[in-house]
Amino acid sequence: MHKNGLLSPPEGDKVTLSPDGTVQTPDHPIIGFIEGDGIGPDIWKASKFLFDAAVRHCYGEARKIAWMELLAGEKANKRCGTYLPEETLDAIREYGLAIKGPLTTPVGQGFRSLNVALRQKLELYACVRPIRHFEGVPSPVRNPHHVNMIIFRENTEDLYAGFELESGSEEALKLIQFCRDQFGWPIRQDSGLGLKPISATGTKRLVRAAIRYALAHNRKSVTLVHKGNIMKYTEGAFLRWGYEVAREEFAGAAVTWADCNGKPGDKLLVKDAIADITFQQVITRPKEFDVIATMNLNGDYLSDALAAQVGGIGIAPGANINYETGVALFEATHGTAPKYANLDKVNPSSLVLSGVMMFEYLGWTEVSEALTKAMTKTFRARTVTYDFARLMEGATTVKCSEFAHAVASNLGK
Ligand code: NAP
Repeated sequence: MHKNGLLSPPEGDKVTLSPDGTVQTPDHPIIGFIEGDGIGPDIWKASKFLFDAAVRHCYGEARKIAWMELLAGEKANKRCGTYLPEETLDAIREYGLAIKGPLTTPVGQGFRSLNVALRQKLELYACVRPIRHFEGVPSPVRNPHHVNMIIFRENTEDLYAGFELESGSEEALKLIQFCRDQFGWPIRQDSGLGLKPISATGTKRLVRAAIRYALAHNRKSVTLVHKGNIMKYTEGAFLRWGYEVAREEFAGAAVTWADCNGKPGDKLLVKDAIADITFQQVITRPKEFDVIATMNLNGDYLSDALAAQVGGIGIAPGANINYETGVALFEATHGTAPKYANLDKVNPSSLVLSGVMMFEYLGWTEVSEALTKAMTKTFRARTVTYDFARLMEGATTVKCSEFAHAVASNLGK
């Protein structure tokens, strides 16, 4: 037993990163899990059942995950008096990956958000959100099957970095005065202030990860989404640095729109789009978007807006990854929906599909493909939880755990 009530790691081996950055997965990988607050335990139980069933379906007894519980959120606070024990962070760093349910944001506990804290402390700089439609899932748009995008959102900078000062505070007044004196900026005395840092370092590693992903997965384009026309030295610089990465590091494999006039041949096309028009075009011309790389705030808005087209946050998966350290945290993208806690009612798909991303990351593609096919079959049969059932005709409404069993019974069919 570690201090703070963390359990000892189970029998198994660590997932490691080889020097060329390839993930090395042993047959019995130790994988951390945080079950989460509110509906977290329900969706984790359903997801874990399905993950184990899918691994068994694909590999029999030859491969098996050694699950290791990590504490965070309310469960951690009850046991250890802190919402985010250092041991949890250390274990994720040491074992390289974990999967988590949603966490409550503790009010008045010094954390703006546990999720943001996890991403920042582990420097998980890329928030990766695939957005695709499963046949049968209710959607508000006419052609949801045209939506097949993957967002790479920068996770550590921008207005989310937390450099904020409250209106009227001594610090805000000091900074306002400094800006007046040094730059002649007429900022109103009663303003709150927030800094928007966008660095070459942060931008380049994010765009590099997006281009590498696009090349590895035979995607056609990477679109850099920005408001560089207005915020020239932050979002405009993101664009410039992004194109530099494409030209300087991927010259043989990728080409920018300006360098090929939009005709990339068999190379990956790197282009850009202004954020406001992007929100329109992902709805009106979704086929023109493939991989999207953008900053924190744009990425936050865009991920949820896109998720709405394919069934909403109940089905949108996500991962937060540092491709240099190899540390990855896969997560349900919705919140704790406390009114549904312990009712075995909600949709576990967001966490299950985060697991699908995890299996892809581990190189266990047989498992991710088997799970995806079984989910598709289950949605097509209209066997769904309440949230989808209320938008569908002729649906069979099942509980959270029953949905997992229905998907498991479709494995291999
Ligand atoms: P929420 O928990 O995401 O729930 C909002 C609504 O979304 C629910 O009432 C439900 O809608 C629907 N929903 C969410 N998850 C669902 C699922 N798995 N299946 C079906 N429907 C689902 O948002 P919130 O109420 O704003 O936030 C509650 C807490 O979660 C807060 O403490 C917040 O800070 C935290 N949070 C955590 C994360 C995270 O850990 N990543 C993310 C966001 C929020 P209906 O009522 O219409 O059925």
